[in-house]
Amino acid sequence: MSPARFIIRWDDISPYQNYDQFHRLVALFRKYQIPAVLGVIPDNQDASIKFGKVDDSAFIAELKDLEKLGWEIAMHGYRHLKRTEDGGLLALNQASEFAGRPFQDQLFDMTDGKKILARYGFDPVTFIPPWHSFDEATIAALSQAGFRALSDGWSLYPRSINGLMQLPVIFWSVPHRMRLLSWLDGVYTICLHPQSTSTADLAALDRFFRDENPTVVTAASLLPEMARLVRPTLKRRLLDRLCAKYYRRRG
Ligand SMILES: [Zn+2]
Repeated sequence: MSPARFIIRWDDISPYQNYDQFHRLVALFRKYQIPAVLGVIPDNQDASIKFGKVDDSAFIAELKDLEKLGWEIAMHGYRHLKRTEDGGLLALNQASEFAGRPFQDQLFDMTDGKKILARYGFDPVTFIPPWHSFDEATIAALSQAGFRALSDGWSLYPRSINGLMQLPVIFWSVPHRMRLLSWLDGVYTICLHPQSTSTADLAALDRFFRDENPTVVTAASLLPEMARLVRPTLKRRLLDRLCAKYYRRRG
């Protein structure tokens, strides 16, 4: 039985983030040499997640250092603005920056976001939609904008969606039942928001890293094995169907 693999994704990363909280998480992950996928907002205009501002150059330098350690820089929306009340395909939140908007508008924002991150020296291949909201047009625009992975979804296993590797997100804190997860043989994304990660959450993560020694990978690192990961075997189809009705999420 191969060990379960995890992706640990942090949302709402920008030069305006809560740095104390960000650095507490960075220190913990570095202590165990565990990489995270950082969901960077190219042009953060969401006042609810602006806690101050550091120099862009300091922000970029820190991300570059983490990238050298094997962390992944992903793109989390464009401006993190609620443009519609469309829950999209997952219908989890009544808010979206993308779902419900015309394809060309979505593509423009994605392309501009990529350009901003390119100026920072990053070339993100993974997209993280704000509020877990995306629609068919988002998926088509992501392919055209050059993204290769979508971090979101309800399934138990990765899927291929319009050529993108779709990596489902089903954990919001440290997982339990590691033996079961190993048997299921999927890739499990844990979604964290640094600004709301409590001291208790950090302690739970510390225990998880220390006691379980989890195998943590990035989305980008899985692309070479996408064909195998998304293959809909009988076991995966049955388990996905069985589990779908039990999924309950919070955003
Ligand atoms: Zn967000």
